[in-house]
Amino acid sequence: MLAIAGIGHLVTNDPNLGDGKLGVIRDAAVVVGDDGLISWVGQSSDVENHTSTRPLNVGGRVVIPGFVDSHTHLVFAGDRASEFAARMAGEPYKAGGIRTTMAATRAATNDQLVANARRLAAEALASGTTTIEVKSGYGLSVADEARSLEAARAVTDETTFLGAHVVPPDTDPDSYVDLVCGEMLGRCAPHARWIDVFCDRGAFDVDQARTILAAGAKAGLGTRLHANQLQHGGGIALGVEMGVASCDHCTHVSDHDIELLASARDTTVATLLPTAELCTRSPFPDARRLIDAGVAVALASDCNPGSSYTSSMPLVVALGVISMGMTCDEALWSATMGGARALRRSDVGGLAPFMRGDLVILDAASHVHLAYRPGVNLVTTVVRAGEVVSGQLDFLV
Ligand SMILES: [Zn+2]
Repeated sequence: MLAIAGIGHLVTNDPNLGDGKLGVIRDAAVVVGDDGLISWVGQSSDVENHTSTRPLNVGGRVVIPGFVDSHTHLVFAGDRASEFAARMAGEPYKAGGIRTTMAATRAATNDQLVANARRLAAEALASGTTTIEVKSGYGLSVADEARSLEAARAVTDETTFLGAHVVPPDTDPDSYVDLVCGEMLGRCAPHARWIDVFCDRGAFDVDQARTILAAGAKAGLGTRLHANQLQHGGGIALGVEMGVASCDHCTHVSDHDIELLASARDTTVATLLPTAELCTRSPFPDARRLIDAGVAVALASDCNPGSSYTSSMPLVVALGVISMGMTCDEALWSATMGGARALRRSDVGGLAPFMRGDLVILDAASHVHLAYRPGVNLVTTVVRAGEVVSGQLDFLV
C-alpha cells in the first residue's frame, strides 16, 4: 500500500473529482491499495481516514497520471545518427531509411534486441511513461518479425505487429502483402495485441493497407494505422472506415479528413507525434484545428531510430503546447488519457479510484511547467501499480 499526501496540484483526469477537464484537486492525497489500484483520492487533510499506512508527504509538488505513450518502435538494432546528420545538412526524410535499420536488426541476436528495447523502455519510464506501446517492423521477414514481437513482449503487453512498415528490398509489393497477411501474421499474431500499417508514400497504399488490416482483424488483433504523415492521401478515410483505434501522425489532413475523425471520435483517436516533425524539420500537425473540430487527440513519442529518436513524453507535451496550438491542459490530457483511449484502455491514463496506481511526481508548482520549462527534467519519481519504479522518495517527509 502507498499513500501520498501534501500534493499541491493533483491531476486526476476525472472532471467529477476536481476542477476542469483534468479534474485538478489542490492540497490532495492519493492512496494505492495492495492490488496496485487506486483506492482513494481526495483532500490531503482527510487521508488518514482512508489508509492504515503512514502517508508520504510530497511537500506541495505536482502529481500527474503516468504518461501513456501509445506509439513507439523500440525493437531495433543500430542507430541512424549519420542519416540524421545528413538530413540536418539538407537531405529530405525518406521512408526508405527503415531498410537501414532492417539490416542491423536482422543481424542482431535476440538478446541484443531485448537489451536495446529494455534500455529504451527504462529511459521512457524514467521520464514518466508508465504504459508503452511497442511495434515490430524492422525485421520484415517471418522469423525476424516474430522475434521482434517476442522482444517487445519483454517490455510491454501493448505489442503491435508492423510487418507492413515498408516492402523489404528484393521483394515485390504484392507478394510481400500476401506474406504479411499469411505466414507472417500467423507467426506474429500470438505475440501481438495490435496490427498496424505504414500507409504513405514509399510504403503501402490504401488498398494494400485495407487488405492487411482486415487480415489482422480476422486473426483477432486490434487495428491502428500510420496515416497522412508524409502527404495527403486516403489513410485517415481508411482508418475511420475500418474503425481503427488510432490514426497516427495526421500531419497532412483535409477538411474532409477532420470531419471523418470528428464523427468517429468515440472509436478512432488521432495520435499526433510532434517529435517526428521536430526531428525531420517538417511542419507540425495542426492540433488546434483537430481539437476545435471535435477530434479526440492523443500525443505519443514515435520513438524510433530514424525520424524521432526520443522517448521523452515531457518534450512531446511541450511541443504540443508550443508548436501545435494546444493548451497546457489539452496537451497533458492527450499524453495521458488520450494515449489510453488510443490503446482502448480504461485502467490507465487517470488517477481515479479503481484505475492502476501509475503516477508521476513533478518538481514543479503545476503541470503547466511541463511546457513552460521545456527540456528541463522535472520528473523526480515514477510509481507504477503503487511501486516506486524510477527516481526517489527520499525528499518525502
Ligand atoms: Zn511510427
